[in-house]
Amino acid sequence: MDLQLRNAIFGMDIPVIAADATQETSTAARLIELEHQYGAHNYHPLDVVIERASGAWVYDVEGRRYLDFLAAYSAVNQGHCHPAIFKAMVEQAQKVTLTSRAFRNDQLPLLYKELSELTGYEMALPMNSGAEAVETALKAARKWGETVKGIAAGRTEILVAQNNFHGRTIAIVGFSSDEQYRRGFGPFPAGFREVPFGDAEAVRAAITPNTAAFLVEPIQGEAGVLIPPTGYLARVAAICRENNVLLICDEIQSGLGRTGKMFAFEHDGIRPDAVIIGKALSGGYYPVSAVLSSREVLGVFQPGDHGSTFGGNPLACAVARTALRVLVDEKLPERSAELGAYALERMLAIKSPLIKSVRGLGLWIALELNGPARPICEALKERGVLCKETHSTVVRLAPPLVISKEDLDWGIDQIEAVLTA
Ligand SMILES: *Cc1c(COP(=O)(O)O)cnc(C)c1O
Repeated sequence: MDLQLRNAIFGMDIPVIAADATQETSTAARLIELEHQYGAHNYHPLDVVIERASGAWVYDVEGRRYLDFLAAYSAVNQGHCHPAIFKAMVEQAQKVTLTSRAFRNDQLPLLYKELSELTGYEMALPMNSGAEAVETALKAARKWGETVKGIAAGRTEILVAQNNFHGRTIAIVGFSSDEQYRRGFGPFPAGFREVPFGDAEAVRAAITPNTAAFLVEPIQGEAGVLIPPTGYLARVAAICRENNVLLICDEIQSGLGRTGKMFAFEHDGIRPDAVIIGKALSGGYYPVSAVLSSREVLGVFQPGDHGSTFGGNPLACAVARTALRVLVDEKLPERSAELGAYALERMLAIKSPLIKSVRGLGLWIALELNGPARPICEALKERGVLCKETHSTVVRLAPPLVISKEDLDWGIDQIEAVLTA
């Protein structure tokens, strides 16, 4: 029934790829050529043209299958094309998809309530992409700084961590430490200050009476799965509290099960003042993000202060509600903890002169190499495992959390084979 529905919807105009090998190769090459000719070149993808996916596996236009060890940067923690999320999406798409926030819809209140029950935060503000949710949190922090903390208008400062990744808008890249993210895109908004990541005392030293917030990833994903010293977030939380500074955790990649807890900040036993989520909030079906916080913080927004045409639309909300339920029902954070500990142990046991270090938490492992990571990712692709280098020398391993132990073992076997070849 589901399959029939799916074929009816997605199967209609998709040409069937011939089984003939030469024809298959030309299909991939032709699509790559089209993309190169007509699309902006702001990415450098591996040359695998994916046509469909299920669980932890993706299939290319040539019929080859690959184990996905990236999970769309942790947006498909629930696995590709999860049937429950698919059902929710299709059922909602048959009813109403977009009302705009000019009117109310019957899904948004339920998403609010379920988010609050799941996370303990009083309020949420829905957006679409992760970067938009980060911008939303920054706006909330600034307005809270002015209206609640009493900072003079236009003077609020927000602290950020070195090597942060929070998205690609002009404000966000303006406080990136990655020169390439900034080059050519200035001028940037003022009011942000960078502190070293992992050093709580540096946060204390950087705080001034104008500091409204510290924005930080509990574990820095794009920087290479950088895990701060134990207790870092707990100390930072205490310092922020002492100074009436909001602690805002960007859990867009680290949250929703990836590190073996629902949120990475739980490892430190703290509760940030605000949390930003995205990516797996939709299980990969749709861009959905949100800021979670208190009435005191999100209450600063008055009608007209902030908005988004698509933010909080009923399709997004129906998808997000189900994506969250799947995380809980299938115990995906627990699964991540268990399989992650096992995978880390296996990775640490690999003896290869190419490996500089291995680190990880949950099913989120960084393999830091002594040389460039790209050729390793290319070699893994040839063996049927997809992962992507982050910066030049780190391979990040982040399979969908639904991966079977058998498949995980097979994937690690391929990694071991490539690294010891
Ligand atoms: C991916 C990511 C973002 C940006 O999300 P987009 O949906 O790509 O805008 C922000 N912060 C972190 C930590 C991320 O991993």
